[in-house]
Amino acid sequence: MIYTCAAHAERGLDDAIDKTGEPPIMEKKNNILSTKCCYCTDQSVYKIYGMAEGQV
Ligand SMILES: [Zn+2]
Repeated sequence: MIYTCAAHAERGLDDAIDKTGEPPIMEKKNNILSTKCCYCTDQSVYKIYGMAEGQV
């Protein structure tokens, strides 16, 4: 599972594809969690994961 801010959404998608070899699923988070972006210290906005949850 990769969490990213808006600025790092594309990078998160690229990394997910690198790991799974498949187009990942990207969800805009509805609830406010305190999860940080994987690439910076901003609060994450998107959740990115593979077809099988937990694959990324
Ligand atoms: Zn970020």
